[in-house]
Amino acid sequence: MDLKSLIRDIPDFPQPGIVFRDITTLLSHPEGLRYTVDQLTEKCAALAPDYIVGMESRGFLFGVPLAYQLGIGFVPVRKPKKLPGPVFAVEYQLEYGSDRLEMHQDAMSSGSRVLIIDDLIATGGTAQATVQLVEKAGCEVVGFAFVIELVGLAGRKHLPDVPIVTLLQYE
Ligand code: IMP
Repeated sequence: MDLKSLIRDIPDFPQPGIVFRDITTLLSHPEGLRYTVDQLTEKCAALAPDYIVGMESRGFLFGVPLAYQLGIGFVPVRKPKKLPGPVFAVEYQLEYGSDRLEMHQDAMSSGSRVLIIDDLIATGGTAQATVQLVEKAGCEVVGFAFVIELVGLAGRKHLPDVPIVTLLQYE
């Protein structure tokens, strides 16, 4: 299936000069959505994670169906003040500014194997911050999955040396 044809390019969003890769058109396409989740499942199963950790908000969209398919749990990483229980927190740099991410302290038992998922990796800052949260919980990152990789930004060089599954690459 030609997944790239289901991604919409929006020029000058969220600011002039940026081409935003919009996955909402993929999500609303029944075969495209199923194919994407099936591909992620097939490529990630061998990593044998105990949990999928996904970043707000587009990481949730792919992370929950992936966790369901693998028969494991999903743990959300959220923007500040969204999670009700005690959290681990990390400050990080975004492509478009800086922010903070949080994860429930009791979401996973220490020593768990974790696969981190998001819709897209650009500079790698969000994924890198999520690695720090997973490590604060005493867990091990065994892999990453992204539907889209912006290869030109070389975000993967900031990530630990574990398998990185990506379905689509853009310069
Ligand atoms: P990074 O931290 O620079 O790797 O940026 C990745 C984060 O920004 C992810 O959570 C993405 O959802 C979001 N992001 C950056 N650029 C795009 C884009 O073109 N389309 C969709 N999401 C994007």
